[in-house]
Amino acid sequence: MAELAILDDASTLHEGRWWEPEEGNRVHCFLCPRHCHIHDGQSGFCFIRVNRGGKLYSLGYGSPAALQVDPIEKKPLNHFLPGTRVFSTGTAGCNMGCFFCQNWDISKSRRDQVHSQAIAPEQMPLLAKKHNCPSIAFTYNEPTIWGEYVVDICHEAKKQGLKTVMVTNGYVTREAFHDIYDHIDAANVDLKAFTENFYGKITLTHLQPVLDTLLWLKKETNVWFEITNLMIPTLNDAPEETRRLVDWILENLGPDVPLHFTAFHPDFKLQDKPRTPPETLHRARAIALEAGLHFVYEGNIYSEAANTNCPECGTVLIQRSWHTVETNRMRNGACSKCGYRVPGIWN
Ligand code: SF4
Repeated sequence: MAELAILDDASTLHEGRWWEPEEGNRVHCFLCPRHCHIHDGQSGFCFIRVNRGGKLYSLGYGSPAALQVDPIEKKPLNHFLPGTRVFSTGTAGCNMGCFFCQNWDISKSRRDQVHSQAIAPEQMPLLAKKHNCPSIAFTYNEPTIWGEYVVDICHEAKKQGLKTVMVTNGYVTREAFHDIYDHIDAANVDLKAFTENFYGKITLTHLQPVLDTLLWLKKETNVWFEITNLMIPTLNDAPEETRRLVDWILENLGPDVPLHFTAFHPDFKLQDKPRTPPETLHRARAIALEAGLHFVYEGNIYSEAANTNCPECGTVLIQRSWHTVETNRMRNGACSKCGYRVPGIWN
């Protein structure tokens, strides 16, 4: 566990949830499957949950390091309020250790290493409305680790008629899952690979808890969710692995969960791999469509596979260029030509 660089005054900090005291002034955080046992004066793996005098506090609470307006397609979510803007926020820290992190400037930082602002939960929906955003996204770093702030923002967002979005690695415990996701409208979950070897060596976590989260989302919530698989040359792009990932989705989540294959670019500690060739995404998409998934997208490249097509009659329903919706031929959540109901949240 890391020593804290700055010792905040505990009286100004927000006490966390999802922890229990242990002998010797230690605390056990059970928010994510890392189950950190944190000594007094130290932080957990994620940097932003700290033990002060035998209590666990969240340094992320009310302290975003990023506030930005994004297209919802950037999350990526293609079946959730298409063409709208989403007010996006994130803090410092992360509970995974991905060598390829593309937001490492905040996710691998402690709170005192980033420029954070003080934003109370009730301010967030006001900012979102000011910027004409019908939803708020918890994104950029892993929002699970600042779950207390997420939940309180969600309460305020509902009062203002706004929807909420988690962009997540899915690394959350059973104990915390419903406390957070019962307040969420949509999620994009990274399924970073389909081997324990990749998760263990490249993300410093495990695969099974992410699969569990996807199952809980499907079976126990009404959260609309989509899945992203970032394809990294030679590490997780083998066709056999893609086929197993797709088969698992089909068997456990059904054919209507949108799957986004996205392109990697060298970043952070993974500089020795090339950018993902478009052909890799095309091949993965062909495998997924052939297996029976209805909505398979390609991201981080210009591609016609950013469009939403009707699985019944093939009509291009939503035409996109990168993250921009150019035409939308959906009618009340259905194909305007054949009437097929397309799963998602459309208004
Ligand atoms: S949320 Fe942070 S402190 Fe808690 S178990 Fe996960 S990594 Fe450790």
